[in-house]
Amino acid sequence: MIPYARQDIDEADVRAVVEVLGSDWLTQGPAIERFEKAVADYCGVKHAAAVCNATAALHLSCLAAGLKPGGLLWTSPNTFVASANCALYCGADVDFVDIDPATCNMSVIALEEKLAAAKRRGKLPDVVVPVHFAGQSCEMARIGELAREYGFAVIEDASHAIGGEYRGGRVGSCTHSDMTVFSFHPVKIITTGEGGMILTNREGLYRTAKLLRSHGITREPSAMRRQPDGPWYYEQIELGYNYRMTDIQAALGASQLGRLEKFLERRRYLAARYDDLLRGLPVTLPVRAPGALSSWHLYVIRVQEDRHREAFERLRARGVSVNLHYIPIHLQPYYRKLGFGPGDFPAAEQYYREAISLPLYYGLTDEAQDVVVDALKAVLA
Ligand SMILES: *Cc1c(COP(=O)(O)O)cnc(C)c1O
Repeated sequence: MIPYARQDIDEADVRAVVEVLGSDWLTQGPAIERFEKAVADYCGVKHAAAVCNATAALHLSCLAAGLKPGGLLWTSPNTFVASANCALYCGADVDFVDIDPATCNMSVIALEEKLAAAKRRGKLPDVVVPVHFAGQSCEMARIGELAREYGFAVIEDASHAIGGEYRGGRVGSCTHSDMTVFSFHPVKIITTGEGGMILTNREGLYRTAKLLRSHGITREPSAMRRQPDGPWYYEQIELGYNYRMTDIQAALGASQLGRLEKFLERRRYLAARYDDLLRGLPVTLPVRAPGALSSWHLYVIRVQEDRHREAFERLRARGVSVNLHYIPIHLQPYYRKLGFGPGDFPAAEQYYREAISLPLYYGLTDEAQDVVVDALKAVLA
């Protein structure tokens, strides 16, 4: 069976983890700070806060952005459910902005139109979460302009996109956003087992995120409401969570980050090779957006709607574990209960009827990729 994604753990990764296991710190010690600084430096951003997963990172980012009950968050329907659920955790409402059928990212035209209509109705979003689908950046410059014009916060869901670039800068630099979130789940570009990170250039957002990831507790006298009773003293000043990453995970993350360029190079090579090998088949290949360099988390092709399900089933039957990213969130039963339904976001729904994610990961050999391509040729013949 050829999986659609797979982590790559080498001996240096194992050594980094074992070293932490023999150290004084297992959770939130020096490895966390080292990993945070390494990611921040890599992305060219001022602050980074590691957390237990990207879902927690999205939740804390929304809280730091001030999202509250009665508030409103917009995201893409073509993403993992966590990009939308983070609003519901805050008691806020969710709405979606349909995708650009070429890049499968949130359409900035649709966003502009929806903002203009929302302004007329007097219900603008507080937060917009663009998702860099498959590792390719959204049109962040335009989204940043709209954020200033309409006054919403921007949280980039870059779970797919560490190592991606946009207009010469790294995804994660937060040049056009308030915060960026990464995921280190094993299917993503680098892994910590479970893990996530919040990046920002804004000190206040960073401090809030750090406070809330650990129960809302501070040990800094300058942040306290009262004079310390003694050296044991700490204060809970907000209602926070235990969203900490462990040092064990952070050591793995730092080691993986050291291999990121190799990972990216291989993914880009394999994506270009798929392009070459699949040209001429009755499939639509991924579109490269101008100004963006993808990290290639996913390689998604589109097939004719009437052959989609059969192609999917036959590929799996041949041992090629294709996948589908994503079922439009608004069609999930939970979101239908909130009032969404078929026809709400037609571009995302049409995409869903055609999309197939082919296997793509660092350890995919050229030979295994040939097996995938041959299977696809046989299935579509
Ligand atoms: C994986 C993923 C998440 C959630 O990441 P976790 O680290 O598993 O919580 C959120 N958004 C997108 C787009 C993802 O792909």
